Amino acid sequence: MIRITEIIDKIYDYYPDADVDIVERAYIFSAKVHEGQVRLSGEPYLSHPLEVASLLSDMHLDTTSIACGLLHDVVEDTHATIEDIETLFGKDAARIIEGVTKISSLSFDTAKARQAGNIRKMILAMADDIRVILIKLADRLHNTRTLNYHKTEEKKKLIAQETLDIYAPIAARLGIFWIKKELEELSFFHTNPEAYEKIQQLVSKNQTDREVYVEEVKNTIQDILHHAKLNCTVTGRHKQFYSIYQKMAAQNLAFDQVYDIIAFRVILETVPQCYEALGLLHSKWRPILYKFKDYIGFPKPNGYQSLHTTVFGPYGERMEIQIRTRAMDQVANSGIAAHWSYKEGKTPDEESKNTFAWIQNLVDQDESYGDPEEFLENVRIDLFPKDIYVFTPNGEVKNLPKGATPIDFAYLIHTELGHQCSGAKVNGRMVQLNHTLHSGDIIEITTFKGHHPSPDWLAYVKTGKARSRIRQWIKKQETDRSISLGREICEKAFRKHKLNFNEMIHTREMEQAARDLNFKNVDDLVAHIGYGKITPLQLIGKLAPDVKTKKEETLFTKLIPRRKDKKSGQSDGIVVDGLDDILIRYGQCCQPIPGDSITGYITHGAGITVHRQGCLNALKMNPERQIHVQWKEKATGTFPVKLNVRAYDKVGLLAEISSVLSQMEANVVDVNLESKKDKMVNGFFTISVKNFDHLEDVITKLKKIDTIQEISRA
Ligand code: MN
Repeated sequence: MIRITEIIDKIYDYYPDADVDIVERAYIFSAKVHEGQVRLSGEPYLSHPLEVASLLSDMHLDTTSIACGLLHDVVEDTHATIEDIETLFGKDAARIIEGVTKISSLSFDTAKARQAGNIRKMILAMADDIRVILIKLADRLHNTRTLNYHKTEEKKKLIAQETLDIYAPIAARLGIFWIKKELEELSFFHTNPEAYEKIQQLVSKNQTDREVYVEEVKNTIQDILHHAKLNCTVTGRHKQFYSIYQKMAAQNLAFDQVYDIIAFRVILETVPQCYEALGLLHSKWRPILYKFKDYIGFPKPNGYQSLHTTVFGPYGERMEIQIRTRAMDQVANSGIAAHWSYKEGKTPDEESKNTFAWIQNLVDQDESYGDPEEFLENVRIDLFPKDIYVFTPNGEVKNLPKGATPIDFAYLIHTELGHQCSGAKVNGRMVQLNHTLHSGDIIEITTFKGHHPSPDWLAYVKTGKARSRIRQWIKKQETDRSISLGREICEKAFRKHKLNFNEMIHTREMEQAARDLNFKNVDDLVAHIGYGKITPLQLIGKLAPDVKTKKEETLFTKLIPRRKDKKSGQSDGIVVDGLDDILIRYGQCCQPIPGDSITGYITHGAGITVHRQGCLNALKMNPERQIHVQWKEKATGTFPVKLNVRAYDKVGLLAEISSVLSQMEANVVDVNLESKKDKMVNGFFTISVKNFDHLEDVITKLKKIDTIQEISRA
């Protein structure tokens, strides 16, 4: 079992001025709360957090990370709480431990392999601090190293598969290749022992020959470079068993056909030396043209730099060589951890700003990711969590945008589930339908037959799918409503002309009339009569030109008040879901202006009247006629609004008010002043404003006139 003093020594090695107090205290606390607990290996439980902390110190992380490594299991496995951690070790540590604990408490059904990608994203989205992931990876690495102690093969396989599906790719994405490789190699041994042993046999079959070959090539490379006075380190290794296996499986190759089983790496001091070495090796062995990659001149977006070349070796065999500097080699191995680790004179917090810029461009170096663009897209989502990942009650992972609600979730599963959604439980607790969901939540939707969407939902849904389904539903309801209203209007009007609307509705003439009047079909026509876009008499005129409709028409048109001020373009201000070109009027009783909350009512054959929400007249309307309306995002035109002003009577008051109004570009439509006995004036101004904000500004300015006592919207 590694001792805490060894870990502290390691920290001092890379961080001589470290304040290790927090590490020492974390060790003492962890030892106390884990006391008596034992690992499957029989060792004291404390050995595990110590190993994890040691791995983190190998990554040269800051002291808070190391302390969190020591504490990472205390909230999950002991009586200690997050509050304890915060009191004893501070906010940062508490936040990190909470993140690690949350991820540990997720349960995955790894059989759902297709979900692995989503689970990876969920884990990354849940970690608001990259140190959470680094600790989780160190934790998984030590658990994988000690996987042998699990009793059943089944359990071993399950954990190993989860590691391959989820944790090794996360390590790869963060560029921490030494962890990725070890996780893969250890897990492969458990998930597919037969294949592992087969490859092991094949690799070791000509072991001696191979070792002789590696030695020979290494010596040749060293000789060539030393001759040119280049100081270098050369290594030659066979590839990981797991990547040999993947290559064989993916390309259906026999072992002998995986030619670059051995790769050589040449480490030098400076960049010019790298190119010089490349030239020397290319003149010794003929390079394969399309296999050469210059990642020094053109670094990968994650900062990876190296020269890659494949040449025909001493026996005409293909041989892969990577050439890079020592500094490049470090970045290549530790990835994101290299950017997070302690650097002289900088706190990790300052460093993290750069780290995030770096992550933004992170691209995996692993060939197993096919499409680099798709990969970039994933990384962007992963580390700048615009998305959240939640569970269905069956444990399926679903992806939603940040801020999504149970309604978004319901519509994502099924449109009907959305329509009938009457309530929701998150992690077993009832919540409001506008509740914000978080990654890792388990969501259960309760439905109620006959329940239907509310236009209010539009205010808080986040997904396009939910929004469009709700709109469609509302539109359908409104069309249905306007069709029945249109029928009613037509029946009456037809009866007056001794015609039977219901008999005529299914005739070809009716269809033709609908087309002539530019409607899609008869329903569409009837709906628009309901809305008042056309009158039933226009229809009768088409169907029965002989019928005298003139007299009635004037009578009918009288019932439809036309807008007086055509230029104001007021109907441009309103959107009625799914319908355009509807006659819009504004209630004179409440004078709604853009920015007010509003509601609409279908008026008999006369379009829609818009009232402010809560207007007394509106409340008297038939709720059956109510319709969802909203202001256009950029409502244009001006709207009349009546203000009641109480002021002390003073010469020039009206002039002063007028001057303010004209300054504010609020035209006066109508003024009415009454003088009162107590030297007060009561004034009613109808002014035209653009919207609510405009009105607010006008009122604020008017209030600055000192004789004005009170201003209110009438
Ligand atoms: Mn652990």
